[in-house]
Amino acid sequence: MRTISSVKYETFRFVAAALVFVLALFPVGLTAQKAAMPELKQNQSPQNPRIGFMIHGGAGVIRKGSLTPEREREYKAKLEEAVMAGYKALQAGRSGLDAVEAAIRIMEDSPLFNAGKGAVFTNDGKNELDASIMEGKTMKAGAVAGLRKVKNPITLARAVMEKSPHVMMIGDGAEKFAAEQKLELVDEKYFWTESRWNSLQRVLKEEKEKAEQKPGTVSESARSLPENRFGTVGAVALDKDGNLTAGTSTGGMTNKRWGRVGDVPIIGAGTYANNNSCAVSATGWGEFFIRLTVARDICALVEYRALPVQNAADLVIKKRLQEMGGDGGVIVMDKLGNMGISFNSEGMYRAYIDKDGKPVVEIYAD
Ligand code: ASP
Repeated sequence: MRTISSVKYETFRFVAAALVFVLALFPVGLTAQKAAMPELKQNQSPQNPRIGFMIHGGAGVIRKGSLTPEREREYKAKLEEAVMAGYKALQAGRSGLDAVEAAIRIMEDSPLFNAGKGAVFTNDGKNELDASIMEGKTMKAGAVAGLRKVKNPITLARAVMEKSPHVMMIGDGAEKFAAEQKLELVDEKYFWTESRWNSLQRVLKEEKEKAEQKPGTVSESARSLPENRFGTVGAVALDKDGNLTAGTSTGGMTNKRWGRVGDVPIIGAGTYANNNSCAVSATGWGEFFIRLTVARDICALVEYRALPVQNAADLVIKKRLQEMGGDGGVIVMDKLGNMGISFNSEGMYRAYIDKDGKPVVEIYAD
């Protein structure tokens, strides 16, 4: 039988625990916010620009001088075209979903990026595409994985979100749904590009050499070399109604096998949007982004600890991800249009609209 004093003691314990919890949350959040504020980047947009738009075209080994001037111009031109397409959609009063989809489709249609047309090859010489999109207002999301025939996976991800009761569809079933939705399907050959094919051949050769030295292993280079996994594309938007949206699309990693799916179609890993916190699109070594739930973690820091987006992104990418041994980057936008960009790789293709409404395109770390 419980005595009065034990009930009192339990009540006391409950109140004390609740107090400790509240005290632990608030001051940490406020102190963190105060301490972090001065680190805000100069390129952040003004407090309420009403609309905001950013894109990325993948993070990885992109050193100054490693691209020919012509290649660099091509990347910059395509990034500018994509960021302007999204921004113009927002200026015309269209939704964040429209802006994100428009920009990502442009990058999916270009052979420059590892998404859509330029997707990397799997171990057996196929292309398997993943994508996802999320709307911050409703927290609805759509994701697709392992596609072989859908020209624009981001459009299928949006259809999953808007036209089905589900969040994620994969493989043949997803493609059946794409056909029902009358989305454009292409012959698998459409995704063949010489440079991606050559990358696969290089990796296979390396893998063969390694396997001869150490039978029964999948070589580290094939699994993890940063040059085998860049070019994923993504976008985040704040539309005129104050809604945040995020989307991401990829071909995954060169030489992936066994039906491997990365972080891109995993909501909370490669993509996340919530009007209470922020919108995130990620790129990098997917396995780490899944285990760290990178996109959701960044938004949780913004929501629960009131961290500015840049600081939240740096904490997850430059500290947590770095310490774990992963690499990659994110673009982040909050409900006021503040922008954050963070990556621990050598470069990240990226573009955003600055406070004067002009596109800014960047590739390298500085
Ligand atoms: N995150 C993608 C994946 O692991 C690859 C990338 O972003 O480059 O599938």
